[in-house]
Amino acid sequence: MRKQRPETIAASRGIGEDRAFGAVNPPLFLSSTYTFSGYATPGQHEYSRTSNPTRSLLAETIAELEGGTAAIITSSGMAALNLVLSLLRPSDLMIAPHDCYGGSYRLIQQKAERGHFRVRFLDQNDPEALALGLGQRPKLVLVETPSNPLMRIVDIAALATAAHEVGALLAVDNTFLSPALQTPIALGADLVVHSTTKYLNGHSDVIGGAVVAASASEGEQLDQWANITGVTGSAFDAYLILRGIRTLHARLDVQQRNAAAIAAFLSSHPAVERVHYPGLHTHPGHSIAKAQQRGYGAMLSFELKGGVAEVRHFVESVKVFTLAESLGGIESLVAHPATMTHLGMGAEARAAAGISDSLIRLSVGLEAEDDLIDDLGNALSNL
Ligand SMILES: *Cc1c(COP(=O)(O)O)cnc(C)c1O
Repeated sequence: MRKQRPETIAASRGIGEDRAFGAVNPPLFLSSTYTFSGYATPGQHEYSRTSNPTRSLLAETIAELEGGTAAIITSSGMAALNLVLSLLRPSDLMIAPHDCYGGSYRLIQQKAERGHFRVRFLDQNDPEALALGLGQRPKLVLVETPSNPLMRIVDIAALATAAHEVGALLAVDNTFLSPALQTPIALGADLVVHSTTKYLNGHSDVIGGAVVAASASEGEQLDQWANITGVTGSAFDAYLILRGIRTLHARLDVQQRNAAAIAAFLSSHPAVERVHYPGLHTHPGHSIAKAQQRGYGAMLSFELKGGVAEVRHFVESVKVFTLAESLGGIESLVAHPATMTHLGMGAEARAAAGISDSLIRLSVGLEAEDDLIDDLGNALSNL
């Protein structure tokens, strides 16, 4: 049989395979422990920290969607990144984006401070800074593309080649697009990190993560370390995330169509200074995004004309959008990075990363396009 398309993988893995009762939907196995079939003979599963049928099905599905050999399901996106960082030794150097997810920045920074490894944060679109960093022979390069909240694009294939030339592994945080819109392993990445909290689950009711490995040996190493440290995700969460994945492609189709319409609307609005959306021809990463993505996603950010007073008025005026952190759910959210997601970064680091106080981030959901645009239009007209 020819290889199945991603939509089929997402909708069908585990369906109709229950041998106990013929349940069409794969059952949820909450049991923490499993019967040995006899003396010194464990069955397929032994203890749920190590492996669990529900979590294994989710892992296989995510690995297949990402085109990897194995996936490890963790209790959060941060646990997934922490698992990847466990590959590093104290003398090893890693390169991370200077504008990475705030929680990732904090984790990497604090582990480096404690001597777990060395780190250089740099602008991966600055060829000189990148060459300098790679010249120090890092062991790991972490990429986030599109980046949060400015939606900067990094050329994954080019960076994978450059990283491999100096003997580094390339890990890509694929949270913002999901495998529906970007598959980094096909572009040369060794590892893919996810916060499944976002698009993979898609319903804002789970915290979860995953690491996908291109090679079996790294997959095994990470799997063992996840068991040793106990960062594996719960069966119930795995069940919910798998349920979310069933509709991943359908959701993103509509959500990114809404996002593109909103980006176009905001681009021509007099109260808006600038829009950051990779689907716009004016976006500096547009051509790379077009080449390496299968769509431009449903995240965007924009700068309002004016300052914090206008921002405050805007976020208090929207009614369809909800003021909250996180992203990737079926509901539309608005966030103000300077006082919410990127507050902990400090004003200086925010300025260096180009995150102004008038920047607003949108996670676009499944509501009707016209209602979303009316909502934004109303909030903008009252400024
Ligand atoms: C949310 C997020 C994380 C962290 O994931 P959690 O599930 O919240 O631990 C990491 N990277 C990116 C890009 C994210 O958006």
